[in-house]
Amino acid sequence: MPGTVWFVGAGPGDPELLTLKGRVLLERAGAVLYAGSLVNAAVACWAPPGCTIADSKDMTLAQIVAWLIAQASRHDTVVRLQTGDPALYGTLIEMVQPLDRAGIPVAVVPGVSSAMAAAAAAVESFTLPEVTQSVIFTRVAGRTPMPAGESLVELARHRCTLCLFLSITLLHQVEQALQEAGWPAEAPVLVVHKASWPGEERIVRGTLADIKQRCRAAGIVSQAMIIASPTLGARHWATLAKSKLYDAGYTHRFRRASTPSGA
Ligand code: SAH
Repeated sequence: MPGTVWFVGAGPGDPELLTLKGRVLLERAGAVLYAGSLVNAAVACWAPPGCTIADSKDMTLAQIVAWLIAQASRHDTVVRLQTGDPALYGTLIEMVQPLDRAGIPVAVVPGVSSAMAAAAAAVESFTLPEVTQSVIFTRVAGRTPMPAGESLVELARHRCTLCLFLSITLLHQVEQALQEAGWPAEAPVLVVHKASWPGEERIVRGTLADIKQRCRAAGIVSQAMIIASPTLGARHWATLAKSKLYDAGYTHRFRRASTPSGA
């Protein structure tokens, strides 16, 4: 019986943002494969002595799969550490399909995505009552083309929160697309480099018109989350529509209204 290959979300960088479940799996892992340039090596430190630990940064997808299959024939628990959450831009399915074909059981443990870590770093909320109630996780087309209907211009027309992965070297495209979609040049844009990485996180705030220049000046060319949202900077707004959930006049499952709704 082969062991199980666990795809574990390692979180955005801070080793303490690994889930408890991820840590328990690492502690009993016979083999761990992590992406050295993206996953903080400290996360792998939970692995027990004698555990086979390898860095996948120089491996092809085929080599990664071959490694996981070989280790699953030797160990009950094999962990593939994925950056952030495995369901976002992580080649999860490309790895799972050949494991399925080889008859190796797989399971996934979610992780804290870098999008959430970027919001946390900057004390921002992706949703605000009466401002936007939707978030789009996307990217601009690099070598991976965007499917029909998903160009950034089309998505940006919703004017909701946009979290852009894998796009920091393509800020000119972001700027162009958002302007074409009607966002003003002074719309706030946030870039967080290495969100949550102890001592390495950097936050750059700017506008659609100047964020590219600010990132260039800060030397940020990789591992960065771009956030464009009408909610940015709300911490400092003088007026804010209050969430109904905490409105004293609003009754919900856990609390009765103390004043008539709307009072
Ligand atoms: N599955 C990952 C995303 C992998 S794609 C997740 O859920 O976060 C890699 C992209 O994620 C990078 O190009 C960058 O846009 C973003 N990213 C990953 N880690 C990051 C971090 N610590 N800070 C900011 N962006 C990060």
